[in-house]
Amino acid sequence: MATQIFSFEFFPPKSEETAEKLRQAWNTLLPLGPKYCSVTFGAGGSTQQGTYETIKELVQRGVDAAPHLSCIGSTKSNIREILQRYRDAGVHRIVALRGDMPSGMQEAGEFRHANELVAFIRSETGSHFHIEVAAYPEVHPQAANAQVDLKNFKRKVDAGANAAITQYFFNPDAYSAFVDASTKLGITVPIVPGIMPITNYSQLARFSDACGAEIPRWIRKRLESFGDDRAAIKAFGLEVVTHLCEKLLAGGAPGLHFYTMNQAEATTALWRNLKLDAR
Ligand code: FAD
Repeated sequence: MATQIFSFEFFPPKSEETAEKLRQAWNTLLPLGPKYCSVTFGAGGSTQQGTYETIKELVQRGVDAAPHLSCIGSTKSNIREILQRYRDAGVHRIVALRGDMPSGMQEAGEFRHANELVAFIRSETGSHFHIEVAAYPEVHPQAANAQVDLKNFKRKVDAGANAAITQYFFNPDAYSAFVDASTKLGITVPIVPGIMPITNYSQLARFSDACGAEIPRWIRKRLESFGDDRAAIKAFGLEVVTHLCEKLLAGGAPGLHFYTMNQAEATTALWRNLKLDAR
């Protein structure tokens, strides 16, 4: 089996205080040796500059850093400029996304879907960037149906994506069925599961509603039963997500991409439980 890839995702901090907390999280997480670290990007929003600044700090720390780049609402010249800035900063990876239209923003811009962004990055920069795209084992919330969504995923791969990171999920069967269906369609790039640690039930429920990720009923019920007992939620969450990751890796997943939420504790605990240092 090819080497499995383990990566971490962060979001740009909004204040000097949260930037300092992120640096503290890095002090714990970066020595674990992830293959690369990605930083999210807010479509049309103020976090765009934050992504760049955060990426620059990671590069300075010697990390293979991957900015997320969403194209909705953007022009080609705007994306061209961003790509050049990243090239100048020594970046070789990009997570290419459509993004979601920010509320109040009307113009879709010059890109409609992520496959157009992937094609544009390839036409502008050749093979300079290793491109990751998003994939949805539980189907993108706006997709007409699962088959259409899968074909749209293939468009991104055909446009030149090297790999995919999935939306998070808690049902390993959703992932294996998605990988099987992708393989049948001729998709051969690695599809790396996105892993969301469970630390806070109300936040997780909110995110999951927004992005179409399902929290299985038995997990919801158990989490609800803990009420405000944060320690019990974290302990149960760690157990559930550890088992999920174990199943995924045993089933041949090409790696794991951890949504760290800028916190070191949960990802470090998962890393230790999975004995990833020994890999
Ligand atoms: P697309 O691949 O364009 O798909 C979006 C929808 O359009 C799907 O329903 C698809 O079936 C359909 N579609 C795709 N191509 C076509 C086509 N050619 N013709 C017709 N229909 C099509 N959001 C952010 O704002 N910032 C981030 O940093 C960010 N990071 C993310 C990281 C990961 C790993 C994931 C899984 C999601 C991330 N998102 C981020 C959320 C993402 O932007 C949203 O899920 C968005 O709604 C879709 O982006 P996409 O790149 O998957 O879009």
